[in-house]
Amino acid sequence: METRTMSDASKIDDGGAASGLTPIETTWKADKTYYRYTCVKCGGEGRNTYCEPSYTQMMERRLCWDCNYWVEEEKRYEKEHRTMTIIDGHVYGPGSRTSGSMRGMAGRRFDIEYIEPSVYAGQRVTTFDLWSGSTMPDHLRERFPDTARFLGGAERAQVGETTCWNPSDHKSKPYPLPNTLKPNASKSEAHHG
Ligand SMILES: [Zn+2]
Repeated sequence: METRTMSDASKIDDGGAASGLTPIETTWKADKTYYRYTCVKCGGEGRNTYCEPSYTQMMERRLCWDCNYWVEEEKRYEKEHRTMTIIDGHVYGPGSRTSGSMRGMAGRRFDIEYIEPSVYAGQRVTTFDLWSGSTMPDHLRERFPDTARFLGGAERAQVGETTCWNPSDHKSKPYPLPNTLKPNASKSEAHHG
């Protein structure tokens, strides 16, 4: 074992019993000790068998992977919420590429209108390169409301555990690409479409 690992481990072992950290015996060659513990947020079992920064974050916060992931996401939303694309509690990344085979949602068309509190409120775009992020848990949906909605009949459809997306119809001409979005000059100049 390396020196750093030893000192880290002994530091943790001191309070191990009190803090509920149980070392995990690894069947693979590990250069540090992993722990299992009870997640302080959801009560599930946390196992910090992840690379940094997750390893340290999870252990210090006593959070499982999911709960730690959402703590990190929450920090990102605090900074970026009003420029993000959130529709029905789901985070998207609308790209601006119109050719190539590796586009999001297989290059299908999605029309999107931004709404308050987005800095793009009132602006409409068409993407042929829509990337799907995460569905936010309820406590984050309340804090970070939707910033956009689909147009032209596009929707996220849930069938059992399967999620699929139906693209916009082609009844209207495509709107500008997402890379044309510009933050509204001020709130008073923002209009709903
Ligand atoms: Zn948890």
